[in-house]
Amino acid sequence: MANLNGRARQKNTYDAIVVGSGISGGMAAKELTEKGLKTLVLDRGPMVKHLEDYPTAVMDPWQTKYPRGQLPQEELNAHYPVQQRTGYTMTEYTKHFFVRDDENPYTEEKRYDWIRGYHVGGRSLLWGRQSYRHSPQDFEANAKDGIAVDWPIRYEDLAPWYDHVERYIGVSGQKEGLAHFPDGVFQPPMEMNCVEKAFKAKSESRFPERRVSIGRAAHLTEPTEEQLSLGRTKCQYRNMCIRGCPFGGYYSSNSGSLISAERTGNMVIRPNSIVTTLIYDEKAGKATGVRILDATTGKEEEFYAAVIFLCASALNTAWILLNSTSSRFPNGFGNGSDQVGRNIMDHHLGVGASGEAPEFADKYYSGRRPNGIYVPRFRNLGDPATHRSDYLRGFGYQGGASRPGWDRELNSRSGNPRGFGAARKAALTQPGPWIMGLGGFGEILPYEDNRMTLNHAVKDRYGLPTLSINANIRENEIAMRRDMQAAAIEMLEAAGFKNVKGRDGDYAQGLGIHEMGTARMGRDPKTSVLNAHNQMHECKNVYVTDGAAMTSASCVNPSLTYMALTARAADHAVKASKRGEL
Ligand SMILES: Cc1cc2nc3c(=O)[nH]c(=O)nc-3n(C[C@H](O)[C@H](O)[C@H](O)COP(=O)(O)OP(=O)(O)OC[C@H]3O[C@@H](n4cnc5c(N)ncnc54)[C@H](O)[C@@H]3O)c2cc1C
Ligand code: SF4
Repeated sequence: MANLNGRARQKNTYDAIVVGSGISGGMAAKELTEKGLKTLVLDRGPMVKHLEDYPTAVMDPWQTKYPRGQLPQEELNAHYPVQQRTGYTMTEYTKHFFVRDDENPYTEEKRYDWIRGYHVGGRSLLWGRQSYRHSPQDFEANAKDGIAVDWPIRYEDLAPWYDHVERYIGVSGQKEGLAHFPDGVFQPPMEMNCVEKAFKAKSESRFPERRVSIGRAAHLTEPTEEQLSLGRTKCQYRNMCIRGCPFGGYYSSNSGSLISAERTGNMVIRPNSIVTTLIYDEKAGKATGVRILDATTGKEEEFYAAVIFLCASALNTAWILLNSTSSRFPNGFGNGSDQVGRNIMDHHLGVGASGEAPEFADKYYSGRRPNGIYVPRFRNLGDPATHRSDYLRGFGYQGGASRPGWDRELNSRSGNPRGFGAARKAALTQPGPWIMGLGGFGEILPYEDNRMTLNHAVKDRYGLPTLSINANIRENEIAMRRDMQAAAIEMLEAAGFKNVKGRDGDYAQGLGIHEMGTARMGRDPKTSVLNAHNQMHECKNVYVTDGAAMTSASCVNPSLTYMALTARAADHAVKASKRGEL
């Protein structure tokens, strides 16, 4: 028996285990396998193979079951009461990449919009590809403001890894030479349209500190040899990315990192594997593996490795940690600090302004650029001109100008204002006025009592405890929202737009889909969960490299930073393993 058990254990033993195959897990898989580690990648959802498993990628509007892919409200209410809060993203074209809320319950102590995709590739298939670096200021802000804890790293520690990731995934963007908006390794930028160019010129002449740039987006505009060798090609400007891209025009785990990992011959990927707990060896003081529940058979199984990367996304990674209790970790794995599940952050959005361009009625654009413009942060940059006394930190704007009505309708729930048949053809020759919108993405501070806990009273369909989430925005964010709206109005008016209208929509945490902070990095094991290399302070062979690790949020979209942290941590893990430290 001992021998048989030994063989079973050997069969299930790898050099490394990666939990999750989304943005961060995919990058961990690539980096670890390319450095020679036999790596098991576990994902709780089904397989999604690049090209083969994008069922709606080339579907036309007349091929859908429902008119233009708009799901009936009853179906949305029954199965996707939370996922539909994203608005335009939840359609017949995309629903298979979002979780069904009725099958994946959680408790909203306060409204919390938990937008998820459980399948191989995670939300790397769904993301908006906006890719920005945290700035040097972002890494210093907590220490300077006396907020939460200090990051244990600085911009310089991560800069080479940003380079590394950008070069690999491909980011198109414009260098701006601003210290608070660091440039990266860019492929050629996408072009602004005529209204955006005019907006830039007029707004910048009135507000020189508010730079208007083109969005930095993970799309190939000049693919490298490496990207071509993966089967990826130049972006075709179809803007149907969220369905999965047959061209590999935008970066996802499925079109990028998982293919790279597969090619090394060192990856085994196991879908339908819900990681429930980490296995801890008290004598060795190490994690030895993970326990899974097979979502198809309902059976438990164990897998073993010397190094474990948790990349299940911020709330799910914290769920695994809290669910892994033992006599050593009665409060959750590596949770001596009691910080696991706390400090939930997001980016607050849904506030800004829009206006009509009076000129350019004779101008149009070709293609569907899958990107917008970006106005980097221009508040609280350390000089008196940008200082605000009513709040800390800052925000950026994403937006753009278009002639609305048809260019987004392939993806959109916003309806079809232009009818069908001949009436539609006639309407399309009258494209309507240009509208320009600016939407703020603001930094949320880390508050300890914005937290999630395990809810043993409500079990999911596998009998596992669920999450209870209690998080909201506070005075600092509310004051920032007022300014986000006012400054957008100011810029559009200064640029000569008419009918400028401000808006502040219905935001609750989660809607930014940038959940972060539930196992933060820090210098002191008493107040943080991870060290400067994303290792758990209390168990050095477990690395957490998804949004859970974030010590503060910055105001920029975070996924590029998760990937850079992951690549850096993987490098550390391989070197530490070779030194026999793990
Ligand atoms: C519509 C939309 C637009 C977005 N736009 C942007 C953008 O423009 N820029 C940006 O930076 N970010 C954007 N995001 C956010 C971005 O998608 C996330 O930040 C990113 O995917 C997070 O990466 P992750 O690896 O932490 O999690 P995910 O990509 O969600 O991957 C987590 C994976 O872990 C798996 N998993 C979960 N629990 C378990 C478990 N217990 N066991 C095993 N596997 C598990 C899941 O199935 C999933 O595959 C957007 C998201 C959406 C939905
Ligand atoms: S716009 Fe580019 S990335 Fe998006 S679906 Fe088209 S080719 Fe793919």
